[in-house]
Formats: sequence, C-alpha cells, structure tokens
Amino acid sequence: MSDNCLFCKIINGTIPADIVYQDDTVLAFKDINPQAPVHILVIPKRHIATLDDLTEADRADIGHLMERLAHVARAAGVAEKGYRTIINTRAHGGQEVFHIHAHILGGKPIGPMVAR
Ligand code: 5GP
Ligand code: ZN
Repeated sequence: MSDNCLFCKIINGTIPADIVYQDDTVLAFKDINPQAPVHILVIPKRHIATLDDLTEADRADIGHLMERLAHVARAAGVAEKGYRTIINTRAHGGQEVFHIHAHILGGKPIGPMVAR
C-alpha cells in the first residue's frame, strides 16, 4: 500500500469502485470516465507505480495479471470481437494515476492507435 495512491484506496475500500473481478493479487474495476462502452482497469493489489518500476520479482504477478485481464475481457463480452489493452507510463505516456494499470477498451471499434 502507498499513502495517497488513489488505486490503493480503491483496493482497501476507502474509495468505492465498480469492481468486476478480484482475487488475491489482482483487482479489475470500471473506469470512472469511460472512453468506450467497455472500459475496465486491471491493477495489481500490490502498489507498483509504473511499468518502468517492474523487477524480476514481479514477473509471476504480472503474468497472472495479464492472464486474468484476458479472463475479465471475456467475461465483459468483448473478447470475440476484440479490444485494446493500454498501459500508459509516466508523463509522455499520459499516465495520470501512479499505480500501474492496464486499460481494457472495447464494445466498439477502438480505431487507430493515437494519443487522446
Ligand atoms: P491513466 O491516464 O493513468 O492511464 O489512467 C487513469 C484512469 O483512471 C483514467 O482513465 C481515469 O478515468 C481513471 N480514474 C481516475 N480516477 C478514478 C476513480 O476514482 N475511479 C475509477 N474507477 N477510475 C478513475
Ligand atoms: Zn497504489
């Protein structure tokens, strides 16, 4: 847990969220400002600030997170037609919340991969 981390507060229940999946190490919840009909964020329950902060010790958890992300996308009904997965890193990547998270965007064609 990290003090003043928005997503750690969602993990510990201080801030409510529309949770669609969780297990021991992963939490998935709906984005508060959806950019597509399905917009879900998938995060590790352990605080990791950015993709650049990953180490060898995180390999198993992140591998599990990606497999669970695919499960969440299937459960949300977007897997067959497809979806986009995005991880923004730091300022130039457009990262706003510094707790690593993967976006799932689907439910319509997401279009060309451009900055928003
Ligand atoms: P980033 O720009 O860091 O990749 O994405 C952060 C995402 O978190 C944004 O899409 C934003 O809408 C979402 N977000 C920010 N605050 C909250 C919140 O309090 N609850 C939820 N569910 N999503 C949030
Ligand atoms: Zn955090």
